[in-house]
Amino acid sequence: MIVMKFGGTSVENEKAMRRVGEIVRGRLKQKPVVVVSAMAGITDSLVAMANSAARGALPEAFKLLRQVRQRHVNVANELLGARNSSELRAAIQQQLDALQDVLRGVAALGELSARTMDNVLATGEVLSSQMVAAGFRAMGMESVHVDSRRCVVTDGNHTKAVPLADATNEKLRQAVRPLLAAGKVPVMGGFIAATEDGVTTTLGRGGSDFSAAIVGAGLQARRIEIWTDVDGMMTTDPRICPEAQKIDVIGFDEASELAYFGAKVLHPATLIPAVEKDIPVYILNSRNPRNKGTCIRRHARPGGNFFRAIALKKGARVISVRSPRMLMAHGFLRALFEAFDRHACVADLVSTSEVSVSVTLDGARDVSGLVRDLEKLGDVSVEDKKAIVCLVGEDISGRVGVAAKVFSLMAEGNINLHMISQGASEINISFVLEERDGADAVKRLHRHFFERSNVARQKRAAAPMRDSALALMNEVSAQSGVA
Ligand code: ADP
Ligand code: ASP
Ligand code: MG
Repeated sequence: MIVMKFGGTSVENEKAMRRVGEIVRGRLKQKPVVVVSAMAGITDSLVAMANSAARGALPEAFKLLRQVRQRHVNVANELLGARNSSELRAAIQQQLDALQDVLRGVAALGELSARTMDNVLATGEVLSSQMVAAGFRAMGMESVHVDSRRCVVTDGNHTKAVPLADATNEKLRQAVRPLLAAGKVPVMGGFIAATEDGVTTTLGRGGSDFSAAIVGAGLQARRIEIWTDVDGMMTTDPRICPEAQKIDVIGFDEASELAYFGAKVLHPATLIPAVEKDIPVYILNSRNPRNKGTCIRRHARPGGNFFRAIALKKGARVISVRSPRMLMAHGFLRALFEAFDRHACVADLVSTSEVSVSVTLDGARDVSGLVRDLEKLGDVSVEDKKAIVCLVGEDISGRVGVAAKVFSLMAEGNINLHMISQGASEINISFVLEERDGADAVKRLHRHFFERSNVARQKRAAAPMRDSALALMNEVSAQSGVA
């Protein structure tokens, strides 16, 4: 079997849903399980209406709800025809009436818990998956809607729940395997799940990719396909650089780094289940289905460029702790990271000097408790509106002069860098800069390292660079008597 996941833009309206139907029809022999996101923009609307209700602005919340209702009802009509869509429309109305009650409750209490937020957020995927399944049936495929909340089991960490693999796999096998054996096409909502007690949870924004991988790992898929609105994983975000080129094949580790450091095309957790079960993941374009897309798999040959791709992660925060006590003292770093651990804060980049440590983390997190704890260790400063640029490529550390080129390009652009790290994985160089400089930095790097005329020049320059590195190594080994 295979998993085919379609993102928000791939199911944004009736035309897009039909296109998805044709793509799935072309794969029926491979026994697809289909995972879908909410229609484009719906999750954002749900967030906005929940927040409006929490502020007590119920008319504002209801206005958004009316728009969401109208959009779904229209698509149901267009997909099935007014006469055949009454059952689907009733299901939509029922779901949205329940949402209306929840919003009323939120407004009455003036309180929006993460658990209630998940209840609101889940509506988008519950609706889209029901609609896509009905659409497939109208197109002549034997399709069955499967509520993901019956098969994907998570902990109770609302809005960013973590899946429990054993329980999930067991339920997936029970619910989905018989459907595949009977030649049916199961359609599930991505992003949504439930705790063991059946309370609705979600996997974090963009989490439908992760759902697809969870389903793929649980059912031992031969491949996981992520269908989106670009031709594949590109050398950088095409919204920043329209010249970005598609990557044909990329390794799991390189793609994970890119996803983690901002390549939105893939949710960062997606590759964890895929790596565990060694399942290749393909990124494909639902508007251009003939394109072969990007294959992410265990081994990928180096692409012949210095770097495979560049990612940009905005919204980073830098926390620095300065303490003279750090000087020559042991145990300081342990105390620092224990504080991070206690507050469940994930550190992205770390750089240390003799008297200070700087750590980046997600700027959206509340860090007041963490900062209070860190103040026991030294003077703490918190800087927001930072971004991380991450350049990924095989074996960067073996390339003489590449890091120097990266930083001289930044200096040419008058771009001030705050922290620099060459990843222990030896496949990335990352640095922190002001958020407002992020796009400019990526454009400069992309122009130099990826755009055609420059790449040709670099390749000519690479040979002497390798020769000089070899000469240096020979010299060192001759001196140490190894040669
Ligand atoms: P979906 O709704 O299908 O999940 P997303 O909007 O989450 O789609 O992800 C696709 C978008 O990711 C693209 O439109 C593109 O702007 C952005 N993106 C960022 N970095 C990259 C990259 N390296 N390669 C491709 N797309 C990228
Ligand atoms: N609909 C959810 C979101 O917009 C999940 C997803 O699309 O992957 O974040
Ligand atoms: Mg996405």
